[in-house]
Amino acid sequence: MTNLRIPGPTPCPEDVLKEMSRQMINHRGPEFAQVLNNVTAGLKQVFQTSGNVLLVSSSGTGGMEAAVVNMLSPGDKVLSVSIGGFGDRFATIAKTYGADVIPLSFEWGTAADPDAIRKALNDNPSVKAVLVTHNETSTGVTNDLESISKVVKEFDKLIIVDAVSSMSSINLPVDKWGCDVVVSGSQKGWMVPPGVAMLSVSEKGWAANAEAKMPRFYFDIAKAKNSIEKGQTPWTPAMSVIFALEKALQLMLDEGLENIFTRHIRIADMTRKGIKELGLELFADEKFASNTVTSVRASEGLDVKQLNKIMREKHDIVLGGGQLHLAGKIFRIGHLGYVSEKDIEEVLEKLRIVLPQAGFEVKS
Ligand code: PMP
Repeated sequence: MTNLRIPGPTPCPEDVLKEMSRQMINHRGPEFAQVLNNVTAGLKQVFQTSGNVLLVSSSGTGGMEAAVVNMLSPGDKVLSVSIGGFGDRFATIAKTYGADVIPLSFEWGTAADPDAIRKALNDNPSVKAVLVTHNETSTGVTNDLESISKVVKEFDKLIIVDAVSSMSSINLPVDKWGCDVVVSGSQKGWMVPPGVAMLSVSEKGWAANAEAKMPRFYFDIAKAKNSIEKGQTPWTPAMSVIFALEKALQLMLDEGLENIFTRHIRIADMTRKGIKELGLELFADEKFASNTVTSVRASEGLDVKQLNKIMREKHDIVLGGGQLHLAGKIFRIGHLGYVSEKDIEEVLEKLRIVLPQAGFEVKS
């Protein structure tokens, strides 16, 4: 079986895949209402929130768009904290809908500095919301969201978080950290195929929603909130993905949140250690290196395209490349969701064989 080691879509357990082949039922009937109730209850546990968690049928980007258009009005000032490609995407979405975006970008591979955020909020008192990525998949860096959220709350601003590649794998207690809107996507650590994004919304978030004037229809979360109270979604949802999510949530809660987080820490540590033992360098500042994806610098001589090609064609292992200006400069190993030590052992073992074939002499 292919060892799919990109940071999403991720492999799904057989029991989850089976759910994808279930016969259709009435999406407005009692049976599906029960499924939605179970899913919502499970999501609240993983998000660690007593607030609402809503589903939209889209990939993670749709969830980010929903967060923006439901919280803001055209002309609102937004501080957009970016440490990579997905942070930049958040800013682009906000700009597209007419927000006045103040960018605060950090060098790719590093994490956002909470003090710099404090300074930016001091300098721009009329900012309405802060957009921030929890886990930047393009660089393999996890921001210190707890500290960032504390700073944002000093100024009593909204904090809107992209947790597409962290929620479900890395601890993010939404209520404890006071995050107003948090977005995730089914194809990441949730062990489910793509097609559903989830959003938590705080009370402060709902108050902002009541005032928000950005245009929206399909992604109107007030409609989603009304519907979910009746065990429905406003539009026909990606039912098969939701069946799969119900099963995946059962598996996750059986494993236990703490156990899931420690498994991700253990496997990420093992990946980073193995990479360094091969003589390669991590791209991310190790203090903030992600526990869901490891980015590896293409040290001198290493042809990433060739490496990934041989790994895929000869060993059935699929690694991620670098995105945007990091293309050819890094490769990435996804280790989120349905992943065990054995999967990473295999990657490291085969890298030892393939790296020299792609121009890099492995440390003996
Ligand atoms: N944000 C982050 C941090 C991501 O990793 C991704 C997906 N790689 C997205 C947003 C966008 O999600 P999607 O591709 O599901 O639209």
